[in-house]
Amino acid sequence: MKFDPASQIQDLKQFGEYGDVNPSITDSATYTFMQAKTMTETFHGEAEGCFLYSRHWNPSNKYLADAMAAMEGTEEGWVTASGMAAITNTILQLCNAGDHIVSSMTTYGGTFAFLENYLPKFRIGVTFVDITDAAAVEAAIRPNTKIIYTETVTNPLLHVSDIPVLAAIANRHGVQLVVDNTFTPMIVSPARLGAHVVVYSLTKFVNGKNDCVAGAVCGTKEFINSMIDVNKGTAMLLGPVLDPLRSSGILKNMHTLHIRMKQHSRNAQYLAGKFEAAGVRIVYPGLAGHKDYETMLKIMNPGFGFGGMIAIDLLTAERAGRLMEMMELEEVGYLAVSLGYFKTLFSNPGKSTSSEVPEEIQKKMGLSEGLIRFSVGLDNDIERTWEKIEHCLHMLDIA
Ligand code: PLP
Repeated sequence: MKFDPASQIQDLKQFGEYGDVNPSITDSATYTFMQAKTMTETFHGEAEGCFLYSRHWNPSNKYLADAMAAMEGTEEGWVTASGMAAITNTILQLCNAGDHIVSSMTTYGGTFAFLENYLPKFRIGVTFVDITDAAAVEAAIRPNTKIIYTETVTNPLLHVSDIPVLAAIANRHGVQLVVDNTFTPMIVSPARLGAHVVVYSLTKFVNGKNDCVAGAVCGTKEFINSMIDVNKGTAMLLGPVLDPLRSSGILKNMHTLHIRMKQHSRNAQYLAGKFEAAGVRIVYPGLAGHKDYETMLKIMNPGFGFGGMIAIDLLTAERAGRLMEMMELEEVGYLAVSLGYFKTLFSNPGKSTSSEVPEEIQKKMGLSEGLIRFSVGLDNDIERTWEKIEHCLHMLDIA
C-alpha cells in the first residue's frame, strides 16, 4: 500500500486521560513512582510507558514525537526546542572528535555556520559538495566520514537531493544519511527513501503559525534511545527540551498540515509560472525547467505539490531590497525571515538567513546577492496577489 503521510496523521489515536479529544498537557518537570524499583528501571530505559523527568521524556512531547515518527514512517521521534537543536544534537550524537562529514554546500545558514565554524572545536572536518553531483559526494567520503548531510530541498537555492542515490552511497560506505526535511513535510518522506535520520525545524511549515520555535529528530528506536541515554546521550546531556505547552499546540497544527501544504504548493506553482512568463529569473522545483525537476518527480509523494518555496533573482541586492519593500507596502506579505507561515514572507538570503556563508562561498554555490526567497502563503485569491506583485515589478521597471 502506498505511504500517505497525511493518513498516517489522521489515523493517530491520541487522546487525554479524561477522554479529552486533544491529549492533556503534562505540565510537570518530574513524575511520581509507587515503587523505587520502577524508578531505577525507568532510569535505565527498561520500563515502557513510565516518565522520569521532562528533560528526558514528557507525555506531551511524546505525543508530538509519535506524530512526527508516524508522518515520517520512522520507528521513533524526539522533539527539541529548535530546529538547530535537532540538527546539532543529531550531528554531535553521530560524530566523535576527529570524524568527518560530507555536506551539501547549500544548507540553511545556521547549519552551515555550525558545520564550518563550530565543529572545528571538535576537530570534526566538513567537505562541502554539490549534493546533486553523486560522483562528487562519493569522492568526498573518507575513512573517518560519519555523515552525509543534506536538505531535501535546499535553503535557499532549492536544489533537490536525490535521496535514494545518496542513501545508496551512504550504505556502501557505512555512513549515516541525515536529511533536513523542513521545506517539504508530507511532500517528501526521506526515511522511506533510505535516509537514516530525518531532522526538522518545526518552526516552519509543520507548526505553520510562527508563534514558536521547535524541532524534531526522527529515526530508529536505537538512535533516538542513544540520544536520550542518561549517561551518554547528547540530547539528554545538552538538554534542548521542548516546552510541553508548545508541543501540544504544534501537534494540533499537524492535523491541518496536509491541507496547508497543498495550498502553499498550489499558490507557489501559480506565482512561479507567472514570474517565469514575466521573464523574471525564477527557481521552483515544480517548473519543468528546474534542473532537478525530474529528481523531485521521482522522490515526491503524490498530491501535495512541489512545496511553498520559490526564489527569484534580481541580480543586485539593491533591486531586491526595493522590490521587497514595495511588496510589503502593497500587502503581498511581510519582509521577514523564516517560512511556512500563512502569510507570504520574503527575504534576501545573501543578506539575512545565509549571511553566515562567506561571500566567496555564496558565489561558488551560485547564491546571487539579488536573490529573493519567498515562502508563499495560504492566500485564497493568488491571482489577486500576483496582480499586486506585477504592479510592483512594473513600478520598479523589473518586468
Ligand atoms: N533547517 C532549515 C532548512 C531552516 O530553514 C532553518 C531555519 O530557518 C532551520 C533548520 C533552523 O530551525 P530553527 O530556527 O527552528 O532552529
